[in-house]
Amino acid sequence: MNRRDLLISSVAAATGVGLAGCDDHGASKLPQAPAPTTGPDGKRLIPWQNWSGYQFGVPVQRLVPKDEAELSDIMRHAPGPIRPVGAGHSFTALVPTDGTLLSLRNFSGLLSHDQDSMTARLGAGTRLGDVGPMLDEVGQALANMPDIDSQTLAGAIGTATHGTGAGLGALHSYVKALRLVTPRGEIIDCSAEQNPEVFSAAKVSLGSLGVITQMTLQNVPTHRLKRRSWLAPIDELIDNFDQLVSENHSFEMYYIPFCSQAMAVAINPTDEPMQPRGPEQDNDAVMQMKQLRDWLSWWPGMRQRLLDMATRDFEPEEAVDVWYRIFPSSREVRFNEMEYHLPSEALMPAFKQVRERIESQHHEEFFPVEIRVVRGDDAMLSPFQGHAVSSSIAVHRYHKEDPLPYFASLEPIYQPYEGRPHWGKMHTLSSAQLAARYPRWKDFLAVREALDPDGRMLNPYLRQLFGIS
Ligand SMILES: Cc1cc2nc3c(=O)[nH]c(=O)nc-3n(C[C@H](O)[C@H](O)[C@H](O)COP(=O)(O)OP(=O)(O)OC[C@H]3O[C@@H](n4cnc5c(N)ncnc54)[C@H](O)[C@@H]3O)c2cc1C
Repeated sequence: MNRRDLLISSVAAATGVGLAGCDDHGASKLPQAPAPTTGPDGKRLIPWQNWSGYQFGVPVQRLVPKDEAELSDIMRHAPGPIRPVGAGHSFTALVPTDGTLLSLRNFSGLLSHDQDSMTARLGAGTRLGDVGPMLDEVGQALANMPDIDSQTLAGAIGTATHGTGAGLGALHSYVKALRLVTPRGEIIDCSAEQNPEVFSAAKVSLGSLGVITQMTLQNVPTHRLKRRSWLAPIDELIDNFDQLVSENHSFEMYYIPFCSQAMAVAINPTDEPMQPRGPEQDNDAVMQMKQLRDWLSWWPGMRQRLLDMATRDFEPEEAVDVWYRIFPSSREVRFNEMEYHLPSEALMPAFKQVRERIESQHHEEFFPVEIRVVRGDDAMLSPFQGHAVSSSIAVHRYHKEDPLPYFASLEPIYQPYEGRPHWGKMHTLSSAQLAARYPRWKDFLAVREALDPDGRMLNPYLRQLFGIS
């Protein structure tokens, strides 16, 4: 019997009385995208929405330039705000615009590669899921990947997207060079040697300095990875967290609210024979946890007993495959997310408060909380700068439920630790608070001002974030 069947049977046994909840968990407060309208020139205007549906905008035009010359022309003349979009997987309002929405899907694919330096030049609009087979084909691999592979390269580096591993940096830390088309239509190549100040700003730049058309990545030789996931008592995983991080190439932990077991995932290089991953069970498991919440949020003790029963006999899962089929998973249950990056020593004190607050005040929560580590780097807006290794805590809220009260309840926990929010995930920090947490904040704003003095790439969200009226 698998995890899912166990949960179903446990719930069915315990709730023969049929105790479905009637709380909509704030569904009625969710913002609603407008219906398609017609613009002044008679053109149909279709709203754009992000992956979770929480962010939206009605661009007056959507453009898909075919090359850098066309893009440069668009940058000079198109109505602003000009907002580049990748896969729309950010939870914050980085992309919405009532001006010009730009897709870089024509800037996609492997442009060149060098086996001696293990580098590859790729189109900035390439999806991570396409990067995998392309690099593998030429004997290369990304050093690390996030949870999913739907993002584009430019979108991922633009918000400091990361995976997990004490020796593994966020994706932008592997960028050796990139090309930017600025709002004035200039084409700037930058790297540590060429335009280094622009390079340091552009790696994590929230699409605010220009449009990235290509980038060169420092890769590693292609390899096979072994993924092992298992459940263990949460207190044991907390006690052993540092050791598990140091013993494994990549390690993360998922705390399951109202369960005394947590899930651990370790990924390591291997020469073992291939053993592809079985069907993804995480999406079903999350919906089962939701069902249990719907029926039993009023009785946390019973919910915990059932979750403990359902997870008790979970057999560890192992898979061996090429790197790009091991790192990412599928995330079909949609959600909104808040993730904070913290100094390593703050991780467990902060996490213990998060856990205590969820179990005392948020009986409605069911999504697992994800805990990861990331190697530091020095990009101007990298949330990982200043620390050899940072840690992160990510909380999620089902997309049909209001995320704001839950996130507002947890966000203050991170402030005494000077936590830095993930740029693509929800938070409420002001530009003054961010400035205090980023030693090179003013340097970044100076580069932005020099490249986009008229603020053509600033939508209202970015203006507020950067403190620009
Ligand atoms: C299901 C899910 C799982 C996720 N897992 C992880 C994870 O494991 N780790 C993690 O760190 N994050 C994760 N994220 C967050 C996600 O990786 C980031 O929000 C990322 O930025 C999304 O990439 P995108 O291609 O969708 O970019 P978008 O969200 O479309 O854009 C992101 C930013 O990049 C800019 N941009 C896009 N293209 C360009 C370009 N060509 N030039 C300049 N700027 C550009 C946009 O203007 C915007 O500011 C996850 C998100 C979801 C929905």
